[in-house]
Amino acid sequence: MTGTEPAHVGSYYAATVNDHTEFAPLRGEHRADVCVIGAGFTGISTALHLAEKGYNVHVVEAHKVGWGASGRNGGQLIAGISAEKRLAKMMGKQAVWDLRWAGHEIIRQRVRTYNIDCDLKYGYLDVAIKPRHVRDLENNCRYLDDNNFADEHRLLSQAETRDLIGTDAYLGALLNMGNGHLHPLNLCVGEARAAVVNGATIYEQSPVTHIEHGSKPVVHADSGAVKADFVVIAGNAYHRLEPILRGQVLPVNSFIIASEPLTAELVREINRDDLAVCDPNYILQYFRLSADKRLLFGGRCNYFGMDPLLIKSQLVPRLLKIYPQLRDTRFEFAWGGSIAVPVNRAVQLGRVAPNVLYAQGYSGHGINVTHVTGQILAEAIAGTSERFDVISQLKTMRVPGAATFSRQLITLGMIYYGLKDRL
Ligand SMILES: Cc1cc2nc3c(=O)[nH]c(=O)nc-3n(C[C@H](O)[C@H](O)[C@H](O)COP(=O)(O)OP(=O)(O)OC[C@H]3O[C@@H](n4cnc5c(N)ncnc54)[C@H](O)[C@@H]3O)c2cc1C
Repeated sequence: MTGTEPAHVGSYYAATVNDHTEFAPLRGEHRADVCVIGAGFTGISTALHLAEKGYNVHVVEAHKVGWGASGRNGGQLIAGISAEKRLAKMMGKQAVWDLRWAGHEIIRQRVRTYNIDCDLKYGYLDVAIKPRHVRDLENNCRYLDDNNFADEHRLLSQAETRDLIGTDAYLGALLNMGNGHLHPLNLCVGEARAAVVNGATIYEQSPVTHIEHGSKPVVHADSGAVKADFVVIAGNAYHRLEPILRGQVLPVNSFIIASEPLTAELVREINRDDLAVCDPNYILQYFRLSADKRLLFGGRCNYFGMDPLLIKSQLVPRLLKIYPQLRDTRFEFAWGGSIAVPVNRAVQLGRVAPNVLYAQGYSGHGINVTHVTGQILAEAIAGTSERFDVISQLKTMRVPGAATFSRQLITLGMIYYGLKDRL
C-alpha cells in the first residue's frame, strides 16, 4: 500500500460521491489527545464521537476518507454484532439486543444532525434458499417478536417474496423494516466533515509507517508525526502495522457490480419497494437498488485482483440465475474490497498497549458495528470502559502464517464454506 495508489477504487460510489475530500497530508510534528489511524467507518466514527466530546483528534489516512471497505461496500445496513450468543453470556441478553441496534441509531442521528445526504432507506429482506434457511428465518422472526421489536417485520411466503423482488430463486423471506441501505462513501465522507466541524484534523495520502510506543505514543508517516495520549488503530483488513493484529483476521475479498440505471418497468418488477436483499450462505450474495435505480449486486469470487472485466465475468452469470430478465442489461461498474474475517467470527476490540486501542474483524457486517465500536472506543478513552472491557474478553484466534499465506488460507476457506453452503 502506498500513498500513490489511485484515490478511490473505480466504484459506483466513487463516481457518485457528493463531496470530494482533499485533506492535506501529514507534514511536521503535531500533538493530539487521540491519533486515529485509518479513515474508514471505524476511524471516522471514533473520531467523531471523540471530537463531539471535545477531544483534540487527528486522523491519519493512507489514501482518502472512505478508501477502504467503508467507501466501497454493499451499503446494506444490517443489525447485529458477531458472537452475540457468547456476548449474551458475558453481558446479558438485553445488553446484546441494545448493542445490535445501536449502530443504526448512531447513523440515523448523525444523518439527521449533520444533514448527511447518503440515500439512507429502510427495508430489508433476508431470503431463504433451502428449507433449513426458512426455519432460521422463523427463529429470527421469533427473536424479534420476543424483544417486542417495533419496526415492521414478518415472514413472507415464496409467492410474496416473488411478488416483491421478481424472482423464484428463494423459498421465502423475512422482511425487516428496521434494516436498510445507504450510499456508504457519502455517509463516511459526511461523518468526516462532521468530525472536522467538531474540531478534528484529518490527513489524507499519509500512510503510517510505524507507531513509536511509550507513555505518549507517536504515529509516524513519511513526512510527519503525531504525538498523542491515545492511539486508535482502525485499519481493519488493510492494516499492516502491528503483526499481532494481522494474524487475527483473514483479509477476504468481496466484489460488487453495478448495472446501468434500470427502466421503471424493470424496477417495478424486481424491487418496487426498494429493499436490500441478502442470502444466508456463508459465501453470500446480496443486492439492492441505488438511488438512481442501478442494481448493485455483490458476492465473492475466487479471485484476488481488481480487474472489472474479470469481476463481471464471474458475477454477472450468478446474477442472471436470479434475474434472467436482466440479460440485456449493461454493467457499468465492477470493483472489490477486503473484509477482515476473524477465524472464530467474533468482532475484535482490544489494546496492543495500554494507550493503543484497536477494533477490527467485522466480517461482512461492518456498517452498523463500526459505528458502535467507534462509540465504545471513544467511551474507553474517555474513561468508561465497561463495554470495551467485556467485548475485548471475547476470545481471538491467531492464524499461524495468516499474513504470509492468506491467499492459500482463503482459498481453502472458500472451498470449505462453499461445501457447507451446498449441504
Ligand atoms: C465489497 C464489500 C462489501 C461489503 N458489504 C457490506 C454491507 O453491505 N454491509 C455491511 O455492514 N458491511 C459490508 N462490508 C464490510 C464493511 O464495509 C467493513 O466491515 C467496514 O467498512 C470496515 O470499516 P473499517 O473502518 O474498520 O475499515 P476500512 O473501511 O477498510 O478502513 C480502513 C482504513 O485504514 C486505512 N489504513 C490502513 N492502514 C493504514 C496505515 N498504515 N496508515 C494510514 N491508514 C491506514 C486504509 O487506507 C483504510 O482507508 C463490505 C465490505 C466489502 C469489502
